[in-house]
Amino acid sequence: MIVGLTGGIASGKSTVSSILSKLGAEIVDADLVAKQLSNLRENENKIIEIFGREILDEDGNIVREKMREKAFQNRKLLEKLNDLLHPQVIDYFKNVRNNTTGEKIGIFDIPLLFESHMENLCDKIIVVVVPRKVQIERIIARDGSSKELAEKIIDAQFPQKYKEEHADIVIENNCSIEELEKNVENIYKKLTNDER
Ligand code: ATP
Repeated sequence: MIVGLTGGIASGKSTVSSILSKLGAEIVDADLVAKQLSNLRENENKIIEIFGREILDEDGNIVREKMREKAFQNRKLLEKLNDLLHPQVIDYFKNVRNNTTGEKIGIFDIPLLFESHMENLCDKIIVVVVPRKVQIERIIARDGSSKELAEKIIDAQFPQKYKEEHADIVIENNCSIEELEKNVENIYKKLTNDER
């Protein structure tokens, strides 16, 4: 069974996916896939065409922070980057899905699962939610972002309510890590029972 795992920024997806991984699930992380794809020579050349040579260091390597900063300042550049990588990321996940043996629960950790219309690749969808106030606090604590930036990023994503309404399982993460672990363990048990 393939389970999509999604939710807003800093909702706790990585925390949940690491708990699921310890329980035995196989995780495929979309951010990691996108990063690996962007390291392919052909994609690197296209990224330099999009962003210009100012994102390179003296040795000609792409400096990711510079690229991210430019992408965040200029929506057009971000769109071009997404147009380049998104179809490849989707193909990657399709391929994993087609080649999955089904022995383990496969978790597709995809932050922008709904925004990228990747729901159909999953048999079930888990959405991690937190109250907006907690979400903002966690972004500020983790990334050192300003409150304004945190709000801007949250508002650029699909609303949490939409994600909740389209989920099979909603995980409330306004709790301690221990409580989250217990909740995720129970959910995992149910998923493995459903699989049998
Ligand atoms: P992103 O969308 O940016 O990839 P994410 O959804 O994967 O984020 P995490 O990185 O798992 O979110 O969590 C965001 C931050 O909140 C992290 O610093 C994490 O340690 C913290 N956090 C997650 N869950 C809890 C919790 N239940 N209690 C306290 N802190 C938490």
